[in-house]
Amino acid sequence: MLDLAIVGGGPAGLTAGLYATRGGLKNVVMYEKGMPGGQITQSSEIENYPGVKEVVTGMELMESWPEQCMRFGLKHEMKEVTRVSKSGNIFKVSIAGGEEVEAKSVIVCTGSTPRRAGFEGEDEFYGKGISNCATCDGFFYKGKEVAVLGGGDTALEEALYLSKICSKVYLIHRRDAFRASPATVERVKKSDNIELVLNSNIKKVYGSAMGVDGVITVDKEGNERDIKVPGVFVFVGMNVNNNVLKQSDGSYLCDVNEYGEVIVTLSMKTSTPGLFAAGDIRIEAPKQVVCAAGDGATAALSAISYVDSLED
Ligand code: FAD
Ligand code: NAP
Repeated sequence: MLDLAIVGGGPAGLTAGLYATRGGLKNVVMYEKGMPGGQITQSSEIENYPGVKEVVTGMELMESWPEQCMRFGLKHEMKEVTRVSKSGNIFKVSIAGGEEVEAKSVIVCTGSTPRRAGFEGEDEFYGKGISNCATCDGFFYKGKEVAVLGGGDTALEEALYLSKICSKVYLIHRRDAFRASPATVERVKKSDNIELVLNSNIKKVYGSAMGVDGVITVDKEGNERDIKVPGVFVFVGMNVNNNVLKQSDGSYLCDVNEYGEVIVTLSMKTSTPGLFAAGDIRIEAPKQVVCAAGDGATAALSAISYVDSLED
């Protein structure tokens, strides 16, 4: 039986693994369905991780984490967890394909994924001109015009990134005030080739089998505008990945709030003893790499105390 199963290998999961193994837990496995690193590996730049003075890409930031975090015995299994359940004092971790693993404690660090905006054509053109990743897809639009939807940090940072590759970026936002940090808003406003399309939303993305031809925006007065672009980047927030906590009867293994975010104490304890949550999945997460890493460390220290208490 595992001392600890960690679900998710982003900044929270990797740091939890480092602290748990360095703190003495044996048999600690981190289940990560892809490569370790998490969603920040999709970011074109990060400049607010303390100790890293240069502006680096998310991929560059995370490159060294797995080696360091696995130095004390953490194992990574590239598998998708489908459910975590509990019977008595024992957790059951169900893996896609049917495998089941028992664990004394579990830390869930499955993070969050991009939300869909809900306009006409979004599903039809997703991956065929509509993207959630400027680092991944921006290059396809080198020298061309693109549209970006959203008014948070992600939308504005990625608009800035795209403005260096593309000839023009239309930044479409449904209000005239931004959620993004003031410094980022200033940079966007100073950018020569970003046009702000404010108090407007995307009504429709249109195109053909060849891809996207443009977007129709509609403003608060109902006026429509046709913006001809081959690429549309949607950054309208994130949904928490809490599916692994859903039980066969539809309930959750622990308490969650109305958005599905896991309710935790300052020690990252959930309402279920032995189950901890860390990073973007928890309530009031600042959704920052440094915070996710801190949560992972806190959750691991709590898991060590919990496993110790089982042996008393
Ligand atoms: P995640 O990084 O989301 O990692 C969760 C991991 O769990 C993923 O690797 C996923 O594959 C895995 N997983 C999910 N479900 C399962 C399952 N069922 N089984 C197995 N594995 C699973 N933060 C900053 O501090 N500074 C920035 O500049 C910044 N820029 C950003 C730019 C972008 C474009 C984005 C999207 C985010 C940015 N963030 C930034 C936010 C930051 O990336 C997140 O707050 C952080 O990655 C959260 O870490 P996490 O470990 O909680 O979750
Ligand atoms: P966010 O802050 O929730 O912003 C989402 C944006 O999309 C908002 O401006 C919102 O408009 C808009 N929106 C939501 N639904 C929409 C819809 N259906 N149609 C049109 N617009 C819609 O999300 P985020 O930018 O992904 O950021 C997530 C978290 O990660 C935040 O906490 C952020 O600070 C953090 N992050 C930090 C950094 C950094 O520190 N450098 C970088 C990236 C992300 P309204 O404003 O009107 O609600």
